Amino acid sequence: MSTLDSILEEINKANSIVILTHENPDGDAVGTALSLYNALKQYGKSPDVIIPEYSKVFEFLPGTSEIKKESDVEKYDLAISVDCSDIKMLNGFSKYFENAKMRIVIDHHSTNTMFGDINFVNPDSPACSQVMLVILKHFDIEITKEIGECILTGIITDTGGFKYSSVTSETFEFTSWLLSIGINVSEIYRKVLQIKTRPNFELHRIAMNRMEFLEDGKIAYTYITKADEEDTKAQNGDHEGIVEIGRDIEGVEVSIFVREVEKGCKVSMRSNDDVNVSDICLIFGGGGHPKAAGVTMQGTIEQVKEKLLYQVKAILK
Ligand code: AMP
Ligand code: MN
Ligand code: MN
Repeated sequence: MSTLDSILEEINKANSIVILTHENPDGDAVGTALSLYNALKQYGKSPDVIIPEYSKVFEFLPGTSEIKKESDVEKYDLAISVDCSDIKMLNGFSKYFENAKMRIVIDHHSTNTMFGDINFVNPDSPACSQVMLVILKHFDIEITKEIGECILTGIITDTGGFKYSSVTSETFEFTSWLLSIGINVSEIYRKVLQIKTRPNFELHRIAMNRMEFLEDGKIAYTYITKADEEDTKAQNGDHEGIVEIGRDIEGVEVSIFVREVEKGCKVSMRSNDDVNVSDICLIFGGGGHPKAAGVTMQGTIEQVKEKLLYQVKAILK
C-alpha cells in the first residue's frame, strides 16, 4: 500500500483527529492546517485544529473561527502534524501528538526528523500546502474555494510571492488552476504578503537602521529586542519579513536576523546561492531549508551573534 493510501486508511479509521503545526506559525503552517481541516470536514470527519497563537493576517482564512487553543490530551485516535520538521517545534503542543494512537507527519522540510508513525515529506515542494494539494487530489477530495484559499496562502507566503528558487512548474500549474476555479489570487497575495501592519513597518525601520555588513558585505546582520517589540506594540508575526531585507542587498550571501524572545534568541537565516543555512542552524539544534532556516538559541543577542558569525565566516572562507 502506498504511503498516501495508508494515510487515508488511518483517517477513515479514526473517530477523533487533531491537526497540529509548528510554533510561531507562518502562512504555510496555518494555511496547510486549515486546508486539511476543511477537506476532512467535507470528507465527513470533524477534526480539531489546535494553534495557540497566530498572526491576525491569516484571520480571513476559512475555518479560523474553529481553531482551538487547547483540548483534551487523551482524546485523539489520530494526530496529523503539518509544516513542522521536528517534534520540538510543536512546542507545548507535542503532548497531543505524543498521546495520539496514530501519528502522521506531512511536511516539506529537508531537515524533517521523520517523527511520525507515517511520514509523507517532500523537500522538493516549496510549501507544505503544495504537498497537501497533491494529497487531497489523490484522495479525490473536491478542492473548494475555501480549501484553495488556504493552499494558496501557504504557497504565496513560503515562496515569497512565487519568487524563490524553490518554486516548481507545478506551483504555477496549481496557481493557474486555482485561478480558474475562481480564487482571487491577487487579493490573497495582497492580504498575506503586501499589506504591512504599522508595528511590522516600525520593526523593519529599526532593523534597517541597525543593519551591519560584514565579511566584505557577504553577511548582513540585524536584530530586534523585546523592548523594540513592546515600544512598537508588536503582535504575533509582526517580525515577519525582516530577514528578507538583508538577503536582497547586492553582494550579500547570508542574511541573519536575531530576535530576542523569552527563551533566549530566535534566529532566522536566509541565503542566496552558495551557503546552506539549514546546515548552520542544525549545528545549534534548529533546521529548515537550504536557503531559509531558523533556530532558537540560549544567550544574549551579542553571544548568539558571535556564535553564528563564527560558523558563517568559516563557511564563507
Ligand atoms: P523562519 O526564519 O522562522 O521563517 O524559519 C525559516 C525556516 O526554518 C522555516 O521553514 C522554519 O520551519 C524553519 N525553522 C525555523 N526555526 C527552526 C527550528 N528551531 N528548528 C527547525 N526548523 C526551524
Ligand atoms: Mn512554516
Ligand atoms: Mn512551510
